[in-house]
Amino acid sequence: MGFPISRCTCSSCGKVEPGWIWSPRRMYQLEHGVRIAVNYCYGWCSSCDGIQHVEDLTMADAMASLRRLSTSLRSASTRRGWFTRKVVRRSFHKLDDGSSIAHETSTADLHEMGEVIESAYERINFLLSRTTPPRCLKCGSQNLSRLTVVVDSETGETQGWKHHGCDGVFLISVIGHWNLGASKVRLVYDHDGVFSHEEPGASER
Ligand SMILES: [Zn+2]
Ligand SMILES: [Zn+2]
Repeated sequence: MGFPISRCTCSSCGKVEPGWIWSPRRMYQLEHGVRIAVNYCYGWCSSCDGIQHVEDLTMADAMASLRRLSTSLRSASTRRGWFTRKVVRRSFHKLDDGSSIAHETSTADLHEMGEVIESAYERINFLLSRTTPPRCLKCGSQNLSRLTVVVDSETGETQGWKHHGCDGVFLISVIGHWNLGASKVRLVYDHDGVFSHEEPGASER
């Protein structure tokens, strides 16, 4: 399969745009050596005059990961608990979809939960200190707006994006697939979303 090669065409004015855009790995370089992933969404950049990846500065991701963790922890019920060197306890968790899983919590799991909280903390901390508006990740312009997803009212399927400043909808069509290897580069941005430099990133996803 690979990454879809797509094209989107405006249903009203006929403008053609590339559709989904493949993204290399992007990181913010913050103070004290902290690095966090750049979250992005699709936006209309007036400087590029087209659809681009733009910074997503909402807390949605961080809140969702905290909510998932708290749902799991709050639903935990111990049927038999014992302490050994590795297993802290066996507990039963409810998932978001209503199903339950049995889980033997080891120290490593607790560390993993700690990492979820830590990374949500770092993102929220970054977002609270970030005062400048989102930038286009291609050209750095702040002259942009997020694209609104248009959903078919009957089927509930995503049709495409509203064309900014036009009545039409960009309808997405997949025209092929592109087989991608691991990303060879990593793009580094500063705290304000200004592109800093590129570095080799083949060892990480
Ligand atoms: Zn249009
Ligand atoms: Zn741009």
